[in-house]
Amino acid sequence: MTGDTGSGPARPAVTYWCETLLIDGAPTPGVRLEAGADGRITRVTQRSAPLPGDVRLGTVLPGMANAHSHAFHRALRGRTHAGGGDFWQWREAMYQVAGLLDPELYFELARAVFAEMLASGYTAVGEFHYLHHRSDGTPYPHRHAMELALARAARAVGIRLVLLDTLYLSGGIRKPLAPEQRAFGDGSASAWLERWQTLRTRVADDPEVKIGLGAALHSVRAVPPEALREALAGLPPTVPVHIHLSEQPQENADCRAAYGTTPTGLLASLAGLSPRLSVVHATHLSDADVALLGASEVTVVMCPTTEADLGDGIGPALRLHRAGARIALGSDQNAVVDPFLEMRGLEAGERLASGKRGRFTPAELLAAATDNGYFCLGLGAHRLRPGELCDLVEVATDTVRTLGSAPAQLPLTATSADVRRVIVHGRVVADSGRLVAWDGTAGHRPEELLRSALAALEPAPAPAPAPAPAPAPGGRP
Ligand SMILES: [Zn+2]
Repeated sequence: MTGDTGSGPARPAVTYWCETLLIDGAPTPGVRLEAGADGRITRVTQRSAPLPGDVRLGTVLPGMANAHSHAFHRALRGRTHAGGGDFWQWREAMYQVAGLLDPELYFELARAVFAEMLASGYTAVGEFHYLHHRSDGTPYPHRHAMELALARAARAVGIRLVLLDTLYLSGGIRKPLAPEQRAFGDGSASAWLERWQTLRTRVADDPEVKIGLGAALHSVRAVPPEALREALAGLPPTVPVHIHLSEQPQENADCRAAYGTTPTGLLASLAGLSPRLSVVHATHLSDADVALLGASEVTVVMCPTTEADLGDGIGPALRLHRAGARIALGSDQNAVVDPFLEMRGLEAGERLASGKRGRFTPAELLAAATDNGYFCLGLGAHRLRPGELCDLVEVATDTVRTLGSAPAQLPLTATSADVRRVIVHGRVVADSGRLVAWDGTAGHRPEELLRSALAALEPAPAPAPAPAPAPAPGGRP
């Protein structure tokens, strides 16, 4: 992990008084949280009264992490759900959108999607980014134009961004990139590492907005074993690494046919399993895979709303948790941007598969959305202790959805519509669905930003037909 998570221009310390604060999932009354000018918590005082000058909040949760996002997939929301098909057909539509994006459109779309995340209670996002180059695979004149577009988008709205720059080399195991995948590729692991290192110098000097650089290896489909090994060895050991894993049975079958083992087994053989690794989806696993991932203390990023939408299947989240893995959550394709629905989807999948209730406790669901997500993005612990980042979400408890809920059970009843003030780096950045703090977007709602971004992606209207020639005098023969 590199990049700024701390010092910015000097600004005053601020103290938040929370009527109720969920600490480790337990409602705690009357908590004063003091945030330093560096955006971190300096002191936590429980069971105290508010003091003059405190910013008074109601019921507050730790800020939530969206540990797996592809922001541009948002353009497909509401357009792919009627036609049937599966993941592979959905992917064709996704490639069409990817082909339309240049740095300016990518910025506009990502800014709108990050704004929606922020207003929904996500205070940090791990953007799994592979749209590196022009659609024919050639670099942009500024080689980091697409990456810096994401950084600008995050800066514009005030969300904490960990840019997971992605290695993507092949169109399937032992298959070259398809024409529509050329924008994703760097040609080799060494070329990607070189680009990653130079990008690191570009994003590490952002003083105010919290932008960090992590890494991603797309999948065993898109990165051959020797390149996986080279990339893992070439990255600094503290950098978080994410990878898509066993989302589809076809990936497992292809991997077994080529390498005689599962994707998890392949990563294990490359010494790739460790607490710095996050595997995304992990839907179709063998018992041995579950044991390996748990024993290695990886984080498993489940994306329940996406996995349900694409018909991927239900991953063995509880078994992974019991085996020793951390569970985090991501919105992935962004057809849904709502951390509460991801928490609910995680638990719902377990209940539907087992026929039993209460598989994860509400506190465990909240930890998946908060502490585990921050950890897997390289942002450290997020349990509201002194020294940790001051990222908070206020949730209304008097709405038609939440009225009567015990605060500890809000993960199972609230939605993003109940989010009020959102605090990142000790500063209020959104309030009741509106951005409040950042450059040029203050006062705007996410949908206002989204409208122009989506309009820019619409195909140009067909030219109007030429007017019919005027009938010859005298009419038809
Ligand atoms: Zn993904």
